[in-house]
Amino acid sequence: MAEIALYRKYRPQSFNHLVGQDNIRQTLLNAIKGGSISHAYLFCGPRGTGKTTTARLVAKAINCTDLQEGGEPCEKCEFCLGASDGRLIDLIEIDAASNRSIDEMRALKEKINFAPTRARAKVYIIDEVHMLSKDAFNALLKTLEEPPSHVYFILATTEAHKVLETIISRCQRFDFKRISIKSIVARLGYIAQQESVDAELDALELIARNVDGGLRDAIGLMDQLTSEGKLTYASVKESLGVAGFKAIEQLYSQIVEKDTAKALSTINEIYFDGYDLNQFAKDFLEFLRDQMLAAVKENDHAKTVLLVEMIDQFQWAYEIGRSAVIPQLPLEMAVIKICSVGVVSVEEKVEKKVSKKEETKSVPDEEEPLIVAEQEKADYVIDLSLESVKRNFPRILENIDNPAIKRSFQTGVVTKVTDAEITVSFATNFHLEKINNVQGHDVIERAFKKVFAKSVKLNCELGKVNIGHKEKANDAVDKAVADLGWEVSEG
Ligand SMILES: [Zn+2]
Repeated sequence: MAEIALYRKYRPQSFNHLVGQDNIRQTLLNAIKGGSISHAYLFCGPRGTGKTTTARLVAKAINCTDLQEGGEPCEKCEFCLGASDGRLIDLIEIDAASNRSIDEMRALKEKINFAPTRARAKVYIIDEVHMLSKDAFNALLKTLEEPPSHVYFILATTEAHKVLETIISRCQRFDFKRISIKSIVARLGYIAQQESVDAELDALELIARNVDGGLRDAIGLMDQLTSEGKLTYASVKESLGVAGFKAIEQLYSQIVEKDTAKALSTINEIYFDGYDLNQFAKDFLEFLRDQMLAAVKENDHAKTVLLVEMIDQFQWAYEIGRSAVIPQLPLEMAVIKICSVGVVSVEEKVEKKVSKKEETKSVPDEEEPLIVAEQEKADYVIDLSLESVKRNFPRILENIDNPAIKRSFQTGVVTKVTDAEITVSFATNFHLEKINNVQGHDVIERAFKKVFAKSVKLNCELGKVNIGHKEKANDAVDKAVADLGWEVSEG
C-alpha cells in the first residue's frame, strides 16, 4: 500500500495547500476568521477531490489553540499535531460504508452528549454518508436537529442525491469540483520534485487525464508506476492500457478515407491488445476535438463539418460504451455510421446547396464562363491570396462534382498560392495519388475556376499537415501508409 503512504505524506496540512478548490477554501477561511463555523457541513463531490482533507483542516481550525491570522491552523499545538497523525480523541472519523447500522448511530448519539475529552469541541467526520441505512439516517437527523454547542458534524459524500433532503437542509453544503488536469499535473510535479523522482511531463499528464479529476488516485498511480526513481510516459501508457497515439491517428485516417473495413479491424485490434475501449474513446474524442479546433482556425469548413459528425458519433459510443454487452460494438457502429450514413448526409447537404445554386443560374456555367461572369460577377472572388483561397476552400469543394475526388481533396491544406499555381499538401499518399491522376487535377482546377474565375494549375504534394499535431508521429504514419499502400493487409 505504498501509494497510500505517499498520498498521506502529501495530504495538505493547511488550507493554503489545498489543490483546486479555491472558492471552498476562501469561504471556509472567512468563516474560521469570523468565528462563524457551521455546526454541520456537507461536502459533496467526486472521489479524491479533497473532501476528507478539507474536513480535517476544518476540525483542526475548530480546536487549534493558536489560529493564524489568515484562519490557518498553527500546525504546532497539540490539537493540530494530534489531528494530523490521527491521535486526537475528539476528532471522530466514521466511514459510513462500514458502520451503517442503526446501533452505531445510536451509540454515536449517546456519546455526543459527553463533553470533549481534551479539545474545545468534538468533530465528527462521517464519510460516504449516503451509505447510512434509513434508520441510521434518522438517528443522525435527530442529532443534527439539536446539536450540542461543543459538537460539529462534517458529512462527506460522493453521491449527494442519495442523502435525505432533510439532512441536506440542515447542513451548509459545499460542492467539490473535479480537479483540473493542470492543477493535478502541477501537484504531481511538486511531489516528484520533493521525492527526487525523474518524471516525464507527458507521463504526469497522462496520469492526470486518467483519474477523472481525482488527486488521490493521481498520486496513487504516480507512486505505483514510479520505478527506480523514474516515471516514464511509456510505462504509464503500458500500465493504464491507453492506446497509443499511433492507433488514434490510424483510426482517424481510416475513417477520413472511408475505409470501413480497416477502421473496424483497428478497433478490434485495440480491444484484443487489452486496451480499455472506453478510455480509447475518450482519448480519441480529445484528439478529434484538437483536430476540430485546428480546422476552425484554418477556416476549413468541410473538415470541420466532418469532425463535428465524428465527435457526435464517438460521444454517443462513449456514453453507451459503459453498458455495452459487446465492448467493441458502440465504436464499430460509430465508425459505420460516419463512413456511410453520416458522411452521406453531410455530402447530401453540400450537394443540395450546390444544386440549389445551379437552379438559380439560368445557364450551366461550365461551358459559357463569360455569360456567368456577367450574371454573377459579384459572386466571384477577386482576391487570389493564400488567405482567401483558404477561406473559400468550402466553395471550391462545393464545386467538385466527383464525390471521391472531393473526399480526398477535403483532407488537403492549401499551403501556397501564386498567380499561376496553388499548392495543396496532403497527409497521406492515399489522397495524393487519388488527386494526382489527370482527372482529379482537371476536376479541381475547374472547381477553382468557378470560384475565382481564373485558370490556375493545381500542385499537390505530400506534406506534414492535417492529420496530427505531432509532426514526428505524422511522418511515421505517412511512411507506414505509404509502405502499405493501403492495399496490403497487415497479416
Ligand atoms: Zn494549532
